[in-house]
Amino acid sequence: MHLPQVDIPEEVRSLLQLTEEEEKAHAQELKALSEPDRWRKQGARKYPKVTLARAVSVHEHPMTRPYGARSQMWFRVPLEKYVTGRDRTAEDIIAHDATDDEWVESRFRRYNVRGTPIAWDDTTQHGGEFGVTSNDYVAWLCHKYPDVFPTAWAGVDPHKEKVALAEIERAIKQLGLIGVKFQQAAQRFVPNDRQWYPMWDLLQELGCPVQLHCGYTGVGGGPAGGLGVNPLHFTNPYWIDFVCADFPRLNVVGCHPAWPFEDMALAICMHKGNFYREISGRMPRYFDPNMVHEMNTRQQNKYMFGAESPSFQMDEIFRQHVKLNYRPNIWEKLMYKNTEAILGISRDASKDRPEWPSRKNLKLKRWFNPEEEAYWRVEGVQFEG
Ligand SMILES: [Zn+2]
Repeated sequence: MHLPQVDIPEEVRSLLQLTEEEEKAHAQELKALSEPDRWRKQGARKYPKVTLARAVSVHEHPMTRPYGARSQMWFRVPLEKYVTGRDRTAEDIIAHDATDDEWVESRFRRYNVRGTPIAWDDTTQHGGEFGVTSNDYVAWLCHKYPDVFPTAWAGVDPHKEKVALAEIERAIKQLGLIGVKFQQAAQRFVPNDRQWYPMWDLLQELGCPVQLHCGYTGVGGGPAGGLGVNPLHFTNPYWIDFVCADFPRLNVVGCHPAWPFEDMALAICMHKGNFYREISGRMPRYFDPNMVHEMNTRQQNKYMFGAESPSFQMDEIFRQHVKLNYRPNIWEKLMYKNTEAILGISRDASKDRPEWPSRKNLKLKRWFNPEEEAYWRVEGVQFEG
């Protein structure tokens, strides 16, 4: 895909910087949201809208027309029926999906939220009838909307093996994406299987973080047989603990609150310094109380905000977060400060993403059978020993 340079005017670039007045308005909005009864007494029919949320969401799937929506259509059609009861064809859903501009305006600029788009490829498991959400597309979104998207996550299908490894290198080195996101239930793989160790080794040497899905997924939800998806086996965080142990320089972000494995995810987060978490994909009202307690106390530096397009409405997410009554300073840490500390992604659009270390002189360990060496060799990568 051709990636044109897009000039963003300074006014738009500074859109996400709050003035002092806006800061005050923001504080009032949050206060109002935490006191719904007072609002009702004043005759308001609805809770106030959040307009200045000031956050970075690290989990956003661009279900946009014409690219993003298509790659996940095999489960979006039944999911749509399951959630809304409406029978819509793939073509119908695509036709009603937002354009890039609509998605950016309605979900990000309106709320002062920055985000990191996520690519998607599970074609070896579910065919490529509608294509993939390509790494080029999410990179292009970053070029086109730099005030909103500081970087993006690559998506590769691990079963493509050496092609996947080469694509990871291309996405990181040439497209400049931050790391790679995996959805093990849709992609059908267990992360600590030795088959995938060359991939973790490459990512560790590239100095890139990975996002690994934790717990339940709506993918396949609803129909008899769940479209053949096993949401609990592949996404059990238990497997991720091994990856964190064997690749201590690989930063792993566990996606979602990990239901029904909440306690296991908390334990891994406590034990592994290179395991972090993001909290998209589940409404805050359903958050496990133990997790909220850890977010407020011992693990307060390890959690990042995520909202997850297109399934969850921003207004409602913030409204429910406010009701969790985080301790002082936790809101800022959760919404954007931890994201800057952990991933180097700032909510300040004028700051560039810092360079990730050790992109040069890659040296990979020999995690594979010697006879498979040629198979796994990626152009430009030297293997050790
Ligand atoms: Zn996801």
